[in-house]
Amino acid sequence: MSAHPDLAGGRLTIDLGALVANYKLLAKHAHPAKCGAVVKANAYGCGIEQAVPALADAGCETFFVALVEEGIRVRKAAPEARCFVLNGLFSGAEKVIHERGLVPVLNTLIQVERWAAFAKANGAPLPCALQMDSGMRRVGMSPADIERVANQSHLRDHLDIQLFMTHFACADDIGHPKTDVQQEIFEQASTLFPDVPRSAANSAADLQASGLSYDLVRAGVALYGGEALNDVPSPMQPVAILEGRIMQITSGDAGDSVGYGGTETLTRKSRIAYVSVGYADGYLRSSSHMGVPLRAVTQPAVAHFKGHTLKGIGRISMDMCGFDVTDVPEDQISEGDWIELFGTNVAIDDVARAAGTIGYELLTGLGHRYTRTYLESES
Ligand SMILES: *Cc1c(COP(=O)(O)O)cnc(C)c1O
Repeated sequence: MSAHPDLAGGRLTIDLGALVANYKLLAKHAHPAKCGAVVKANAYGCGIEQAVPALADAGCETFFVALVEEGIRVRKAAPEARCFVLNGLFSGAEKVIHERGLVPVLNTLIQVERWAAFAKANGAPLPCALQMDSGMRRVGMSPADIERVANQSHLRDHLDIQLFMTHFACADDIGHPKTDVQQEIFEQASTLFPDVPRSAANSAADLQASGLSYDLVRAGVALYGGEALNDVPSPMQPVAILEGRIMQITSGDAGDSVGYGGTETLTRKSRIAYVSVGYADGYLRSSSHMGVPLRAVTQPAVAHFKGHTLKGIGRISMDMCGFDVTDVPEDQISEGDWIELFGTNVAIDDVARAAGTIGYELLTGLGHRYTRTYLESES
């Protein structure tokens, strides 16, 4: 669903050229490992139907999704590509996964047993990945269960194991000791499957350039222009550009309070531009200026207009939010103009920080009321 350009309060531009450039940079970091793309949650909000063909054209042969239904969309968008389903094998999902040519990531012994039994009944080994928990205590099998799979021929003989994988808890933190510990546990266990390709790296691990890439990288957020590593400048290009349309420019005097709760008091005679984008569009209320309970920082999200950085003012409402435009000359800004909320001038991760969250959450929460425009990749 995408609103008519004249009617929408916000417009979202997805730059597929930037997506492809980011993919190529991540693939270069991964080399000689291959670079796969994680396209769960509708390609981090950017659109599976558009992102997947662009990435496949750029040479991406392997995709990862969370859910089967996302995988079905990937297979339609790139029929030649391989697609792993990260969130495992729910009971009852075997048939559709098989029929749609998807590859389940088996995260528990129960899932391994179920997939092996299904394959046996089917008469041939079926493709899968095995995931081990090497210390994150999230999903995946324990090293002991991995050993059981390796040593039990009634299981292993029915599995075409295409990938042995794990996931790092602290890869965003360069040189974190937990990564070394996990790496050692992973490498040790992987000797049980000498011929199976290995995969452990997300975007952050790929960008760390420290031998974490193994055979296949699972690049996610960095493809979409998000920051993967903490405390280092991101080399990625912005992919999602969000603009809000000015619905009204209002003014107030020093001492006036602004917005719900009257949480912000003007310190000077001000003009405020309201744009027609709010928290119902995924522009988080927690990035409001002042007085949102449970958030320690009081710097609001900023926006951009014709070279001016605009400070958010008052609370973000469901369908609108305000920016201080007092310093923009009156003849340069008017109702109907577009203000950049994030993209090329305002980094999405800076807006996320103002909200006390991460770029991932803003991307995956991108609203459904925007006009969506896709800039095609040149390559
Ligand atoms: C989401 C996910 C990724 C991608 O992580 P990014 O930090 O977005 O690069 C990789 N592997 C697994 C298992 C994931 O769930």
